[in-house]
Amino acid sequence: MQRISKVVIVGGGTAGWMSAALLGRTFGRTLDITLVESDEIGTVGVGEATIPPILVFNQALGIDEAEFLRETRGTIKLGIEFQNWGALGHRYMHAFGDVGHYHGLSPFVHYFLRAKAAGLADRLGDYSLGERAAYAGRFGHLPRVPNTPLAGLNYAYHFDAGLYARYLRRIAEGYGVKRHEGRIRSVERDGESGHVRSVTLADGSRVEGELFLDCSGFRALLIGEAMGVGYQDWTRWLPADRAWAVPTENVGEPRPYTQSIAHEAGWQWRIPLQHRTGNGHVFSSAFTSEEIARDVLLANLEGKPIAEPRLIKFTTGRRETFWEGNVVAIGLSSGFLEPLESTSIHLIQSAVVKLSTLFPDAGFEPAYRDELNRQMIAEFDGVRDFIILHYHANSRTDAPMWTACREMTVPDSLKERIDLFRDTGRIFRHGQELFHEVGWLQVMLGQGIVPERYDHMADALSEAELDSFLANLKTVMAGTVSRLPTHRQFLEGTGAK
Ligand code: FAD
Repeated sequence: MQRISKVVIVGGGTAGWMSAALLGRTFGRTLDITLVESDEIGTVGVGEATIPPILVFNQALGIDEAEFLRETRGTIKLGIEFQNWGALGHRYMHAFGDVGHYHGLSPFVHYFLRAKAAGLADRLGDYSLGERAAYAGRFGHLPRVPNTPLAGLNYAYHFDAGLYARYLRRIAEGYGVKRHEGRIRSVERDGESGHVRSVTLADGSRVEGELFLDCSGFRALLIGEAMGVGYQDWTRWLPADRAWAVPTENVGEPRPYTQSIAHEAGWQWRIPLQHRTGNGHVFSSAFTSEEIARDVLLANLEGKPIAEPRLIKFTTGRRETFWEGNVVAIGLSSGFLEPLESTSIHLIQSAVVKLSTLFPDAGFEPAYRDELNRQMIAEFDGVRDFIILHYHANSRTDAPMWTACREMTVPDSLKERIDLFRDTGRIFRHGQELFHEVGWLQVMLGQGIVPERYDHMADALSEAELDSFLANLKTVMAGTVSRLPTHRQFLEGTGAK
C-alpha cells in the first residue's frame, strides 16, 4: 500500500501548531507538511489552562520545562477551585493526583465516608496533597510522598496559548513544516471519492495534499463546510453559549490553581499567568443578557483590566464524526466544551496522538477512520458527562438557571454513575476515559452528593486505627507541603521574570 506523503494543516491556532509539531516530530521528513493560516482572520486567542497529560505531550516533543515556562509566561496548575457551584458560599477543589490512598483493597473514599459519618474527618481535600499544596501556594517536583504509597504532585500548566503556538511553530519548522500565509477562498474536492484535493487562497495560490487536518477553529472550513459533517448540539445539557474574556494586571502572589466561580447564569474563570491574569465569564444567553454578563465579570475582577472585554459565541457539542474521507478535524472545528475542566487543549492532543497511531495509507483504510471516530466520540462524550455533573448536582435555589440544570434529564451514562455513587459510594472509570475515579469523586462530593453507604471493607479497621490512619496521612502531607518551595520561588528557579 502506498504511503501518504503530503499533509496539509488548515489553521495555525493551538490546534494547528500542536498538530504540526507532533506530526513533524513523529514522521520527520518522511512527510511533507504544509500549514496554512491567515493573519487577517487570527486565532480564537483564549485557552490558557490545561490538565496533566500536557506534560506527556511536551515531553514527546522534547520540550524543556523551564524554557517552556519562560517562553509561554506559564505558571503551575495543581487543580481547579470551584466556588458557589454545589451551593452558594461553598467551595471545593478538583485537585490533580491521588486523594488519600488504598488501604488493603478498599479505595480511600470508603474510609473517608466512614470517618466523616463518625465525626473523625471533615473535608476530603485534607487528604489531597495537590489541594494542600495549592492552598499553601507551594510547588516543587516531588517523586513520592515520604512514608506513604502516594505519588508526588501531579500538575499541569497555565500559559499564554498564543505564545505556546508561536513556540510550537519554531519546533514544527525545525522538523521541516512549511507555513503558507493567506486566506483560503475555496476548497476543491474530487468528484468521485469526495476527498479534498486542494485549497485555493485569496491570492490564487493552491495548496494540494493527500490528507487534510481541519484546524480552522469554529469555522470548520473542511469538516463542516466542505464535507458537510453534522454537529450534535449539547445546549440542552450545557446551557452556556457565550463568554466575555478580559485580561487583568496581576494582584498578589500567583495562585498555583485555576478558579471557577459560579454566578447566576454562568461562571467565571481566573487563570494566573506570569505577566497577567486571564479572566472570563461563560454564560447562558437564555438566562441573562450580554450587558449584564459583562458587568458581572467587570465587578468580579481582582486587578485592573488591560484590554477591552471581548465576546465569544459558541455552541457546545461535537461533530458527528471527526474523520470523514481524507479530512480529520482537530480543535474547535471538531467540537467545543466550555473550559470548566480545561479539556479543549487536551482533546487536541488526544486527537493528534490518535491520528499518529492510526495514520492512514494512501488507500484510506476505513478501519483506521472508524477506530479514531469511536475513540474520539467516547472521549468527548465522557468529558461532556463530567461537565454536566457540575451543573446538574446543585442545590442552588437563588437563580432559574441552576434550578433548570438540577431538574433537567441528564444522559443515562451520567445518571447511572450518580445513582451508583449516591447509593454505594462506588465510582468506576469507563474504558480509557479521561477523568479517573478520583476526579469524579472530588466533583461528586464537592457538588454535594452524599453516598448513603460505604464499602464493608472500611469496617475492618477499628475506630482508633481509622483515626490514626487518617491523622498520620494529614501529618505526613502537612510536613511534605511545608518543605516545598513557594510557587513564586519555583517559577524564579526556571528563570521567569
Ligand atoms: P483557532 O484558534 O480559532 O484557530 C483557527 C485557525 O484557522 C487560525 O489560524 C485561522 O487563521 C485559521 N483559519 C480559519 N479560517 C481560515 C481561512 N479561511 N483561511 C486561512 N486560515 C483560516 N482550552 C483549554 O484547554 N483551556 C482553556 O482554559 C480554554 N479556555 C477557553 C475559553 C473560551 C471562551 C473558548 C472559546 C475556548 C477556550 N479553550 C480553552 C479552547 C481553546 O481556545 C481552543 O481549543 C484552542 O485555542 C484551539 O483553537 P483552534 O486552533 O482549534 O482554533
